[in-house]
Amino acid sequence: MAEKKTVKMSKKDLEYFESLLLEKRREIVASQVGSSSTGAFHTQKHQAEMVGYSNHLTADAASDYTSLETTFDLAAREGKFLVYLEEALQRIKKGTFGVCKVCNQLIPRARLEAVPTATKCVNCKEETKKKEREDHRVEMAKAFAEQHRMQQR
Ligand SMILES: [Zn+2]
Repeated sequence: MAEKKTVKMSKKDLEYFESLLLEKRREIVASQVGSSSTGAFHTQKHQAEMVGYSNHLTADAASDYTSLETTFDLAAREGKFLVYLEEALQRIKKGTFGVCKVCNQLIPRARLEAVPTATKCVNCKEETKKKEREDHRVEMAKAFAEQHRMQQR
């Protein structure tokens, strides 16, 4: 049976990156527990209501809303990063970690040290990014058209 030769990282490297990923995960979990920005928002809102301010909250409420949204975005991004970390840990278990999923070549170690959750080498990532940018433009155009339509109603 002709077996396809699979590219793999050495066991030593896999172990090294496993501890790196676990360390990163610990950092994120610790920072999430320590975060109090949502609590601060509630306090602010509560104070505003106490001053009897609730009817003309316009500008302040808008800025609060924006900062809250940013907090959510950040949490979402961190949550996503946690998912990426988990996936990377799974890949370490399977031994597919550090191999570009597009061209099936080993991802340079320097890149993995910088981005341990990387699943593609720089070349393939650039290709994907180009495509994603195009997709993003299409999405934006669609969103804009949708918004425009809503305003016309
Ligand atoms: Zn590649």
